[in-house]
Amino acid sequence: MREMVGTKLVLFDIDGTILYTGGAGRRAMRRSLLEVYGSTGPIKGFPFSGKTDPQIIIELMTLAGYALNLIEERMERFWDIYVEYLREEMTRAHKLKVYPGVMELVAALHSHNGTVLGLVTGNIQRGARLKLEPVGLNQYFPVGAFGDDSADRNQLPRIAVQRAGQQFGRDFRGREVIIVGDTTADISCARHFGAKVVVAATGMISYEELEKAKPDALFRDFSDYRKVMEEILE
Ligand SMILES: [Mg+2]
Repeated sequence: MREMVGTKLVLFDIDGTILYTGGAGRRAMRRSLLEVYGSTGPIKGFPFSGKTDPQIIIELMTLAGYALNLIEERMERFWDIYVEYLREEMTRAHKLKVYPGVMELVAALHSHNGTVLGLVTGNIQRGARLKLEPVGLNQYFPVGAFGDDSADRNQLPRIAVQRAGQQFGRDFRGREVIIVGDTTADISCARHFGAKVVVAATGMISYEELEKAKPDALFRDFSDYRKVMEEILE
């Protein structure tokens, strides 16, 4: 355990921010939908970015004509099957890549006494851990909030902050919390909590579109990780 407790809580999104799974997540989702609901809905080209896993399933299966109660009834079973397919797809994820500067940024924040790290991601917790495992990043993120905590991303920062409070014995407030993401949904959930938000245009959302949503700091990518760290700590 570190001796000094950080005064800032930095909460990372996963897909599009830390890494790209090379489509493993989408393939696992497609296979599980077919198995559990018998349909993928209009999944081809359907935007996943910024959405929570349950939100993706509800949206796709609603478009496929299923009633919400039926979608929700099968969701627990869906997660079990999805985790198995994701595990399998991740072993085949040859195109898995961590975006430039992310490893360095995470390591630097981790060793900095003023910060503690966590996750705010739309992935269910087991999915998040499976995606981070091959790149050795789980160890840096002891707490987080996940898609299985709420389908509504705006609720996730509050949940992550509560858990970090229990873990680190400190009550993180407002702009002591920094969301790091790649979509306008990351910016919205940060605003909903009153957190600061730093984004990179590494995912599916363009630099220009992100700029319109007015994050506190915007980068093409995190390759200049010292500059990113300055923005986070400022
Ligand atoms: Mg993302």
